[in-house]
Amino acid sequence: MKVHPLLKALSNETNLQILTLLGSGSFHPRELARLLQRDETDVSRRLKQLEKLGLVAGRWVRVGDRNVRVYSLRTGEIRVELKPGEIRVRAGEEEFDETLLRPKRVPPVENFVGRREELDLLLGSKGVVVIYGMAGIGKTFLAARAFPSACWYSFTGLEDFYYLTWQFGLFLNSLGWGELTEYLRGGGRSEADVFELITEGLEATRGTVVLDDLHKCEDERVLRMLTYLAPRLREGRIVVTTRVKPNLGADGVTYLELRGLKPEEAYELVRMKGEKMDPEEFAGLYGLTLGHPLALNLLLEGQIREKRQENLFDFLFGEVYKELGEDERLMLSILALFDEPVEYEAIKALYRKKNAFSVLYSLLRRGLIERKGDGYSIHELLRGFLREVSNLESAQYYGAYSDYLAEKETPADFLRAMKYAIASGDRERVRKLVAFRITKMKLVITDFPTAYLRILSPLSEEPAVKLEMGMVYFQKGLYEKAKKLWLEAEPVLEGVFKAEVESLLADLSMELGDMGSAGEYLEKTRKLAEELKDLYTWLSYYMEKTKYDYRRGDVEGALESAFKELEIVRELKDVQEEPLILLHIGDIYAGMESYERAVTYYGEALELSKAYGIRFLEHATYMELAKAYYGLKNYGKAVEYATKAAEYFLKLRNYRRAADSIAYRCVSYLALGELEKARTDAWELVRIAESTNYPLGWAGYLFLGAAERLEGREGEEYFGRGREKLRGNERLYDAVLGELEKILTSKVNKVPPEHL
Ligand code: ADP
Repeated sequence: MKVHPLLKALSNETNLQILTLLGSGSFHPRELARLLQRDETDVSRRLKQLEKLGLVAGRWVRVGDRNVRVYSLRTGEIRVELKPGEIRVRAGEEEFDETLLRPKRVPPVENFVGRREELDLLLGSKGVVVIYGMAGIGKTFLAARAFPSACWYSFTGLEDFYYLTWQFGLFLNSLGWGELTEYLRGGGRSEADVFELITEGLEATRGTVVLDDLHKCEDERVLRMLTYLAPRLREGRIVVTTRVKPNLGADGVTYLELRGLKPEEAYELVRMKGEKMDPEEFAGLYGLTLGHPLALNLLLEGQIREKRQENLFDFLFGEVYKELGEDERLMLSILALFDEPVEYEAIKALYRKKNAFSVLYSLLRRGLIERKGDGYSIHELLRGFLREVSNLESAQYYGAYSDYLAEKETPADFLRAMKYAIASGDRERVRKLVAFRITKMKLVITDFPTAYLRILSPLSEEPAVKLEMGMVYFQKGLYEKAKKLWLEAEPVLEGVFKAEVESLLADLSMELGDMGSAGEYLEKTRKLAEELKDLYTWLSYYMEKTKYDYRRGDVEGALESAFKELEIVRELKDVQEEPLILLHIGDIYAGMESYERAVTYYGEALELSKAYGIRFLEHATYMELAKAYYGLKNYGKAVEYATKAAEYFLKLRNYRRAADSIAYRCVSYLALGELEKARTDAWELVRIAESTNYPLGWAGYLFLGAAERLEGREGEEYFGRGREKLRGNERLYDAVLGELEKILTSKVNKVPPEHL
């Protein structure tokens, strides 16, 4: 095979991200797509290409009655040999070179002048570095010059803290440190954990992250994070550019105020632009701009020598603008509508003339627009002027851009699509996006709740938007807020929206313990599903019905309904939901003490979640398997599965689930007579209870007491302590004692149970 296609594939950042992710195990394309925030078709296409090149291997895994394709790395090593006139690439002993991994979006820097001292300061710094100063003074340019291989993130004002956290996770992943993404994928959301993990990751990888335009960020948790990180980073570094100096304290923070270029530096810029200027002329130029680089650029571009002080930028740009052609003005006016970079493909669609590329290029060359990431934008200082002089119909452009973004089908693009749909003022477009979110973009609610809420809020009186905002509140556990919005929206909504809100109200009523209302809402959902003949609506209906029947003790009904769910998701090919439903079916059987059957369905859930790389679900299933095997008195297997679950949840800092798993392992050890191991687990449980106050943790004392009993001692002190700690949790206390009683009676016949 030829080398060229291979190198081309390797020079693509997304491909490299895929390869490094595969370095940590095998994945289904959909889970990879989620991690990379790209759409699944694109990821599948890339995987096929990489497979053809022999870098990854796809294999079919038999899951139930179907085959699913999962991918893994075929070789962890690629060797590139450069010889005179020839390149050879082989899978060899050497490792991937890190420098291949160009992290994201560092803006290109050309014609950079001066700033020696600032560069020295930056390169010698650790911890948090803040570069602040007025717009256009060169903060971004300087940071990009100093750290060309940093992870780059530009704030737009839309993001919330977790959105940013995912970016950190991806960056650290690309450097071989996967714990943060693992934590986030597992649903971890604790601020303290995230701070700690980011610190650990940056330290371990010695990574540098640039946060550009911090002043746009509206989530105060980002400032808290920086204050936390600053004194703790010894090897890693976070560089912040901002117009407003933030107060992050002094510990571990370096502040750098950026001012204009020095005269000699400014002169170098003039020369670089190919201008000849006598000293007097240069002195005038410098006096006017005080070395402000963007102003210097504009002046040089516009050939302006007149000296005027008020509204300097508008004046300067006005002069340049006069010289521009129609097409260039149109292009600039379009870009001025957006306060973030716009992708080339989208620009073509918005601009709609054939010469988009050459016009863009000419503007770029003149320094009037800049490249940022995948897109182009106009400098903020010039945007205001353009918005004033241009008379474009903004709604139409916002609408078109929203449509463009919606087609990309990733959560991040979805958020932006919604923002522009709302800006376009077209409610029909907003409703379409809501419908799309309900069926295809469920992760937006769990992964980016705050950002979504902020985007929606300008149109909060629209019923479909109320539905969405209620979703976010519901997800956050703010039930009353959710209820208020849904009750307002319910009478006005129609079709699938109405069905959705009815099923959500059913769910909410169950959470609030109002089974009567839940039943009524459920019935309304069913009627709508019949009317609409819509599979998604049927799915929502059955999901709620399963829960409803189960809570009312109608286990048979719940089971039947759960199988309906399974049928529908299989028809919809919804890979995220299917393993979850299988898990629930297992739970229902386990609740009926049909452990054999439970194990069968857990097994299927396990197979699927493994095949799709959904690690959280995989480990949640191990935990359930441990319980089921415990029920079957197969204590060896219970220990095996509980261990897998416990290790994972401890790593994720999900202490509730970790404690559940450890508790099952602990009783299993007791049943097996492995008392030392049981004691270790019991103490671990007590430790968890001490730091989290999770009641089950206190059962550790009861387990310690049981271990004593099994060795013929009283253990009364431990039992007493356990009883005391579990006061107020009598049901839990009784349940644990009930289990222990079974073990003790079968093991130590001489101790009658009433002594417990
Ligand atoms: P800020 O981030 O402070 O708003 P930028 O870094 O975007 O400002 O700088 C604005 C423009 O000024 C850049 O696009 C670049 O053309 C020019 N510029 C800034 N600093 C320099 C420099 N040191 N050398 C050459 N040009 C510079």
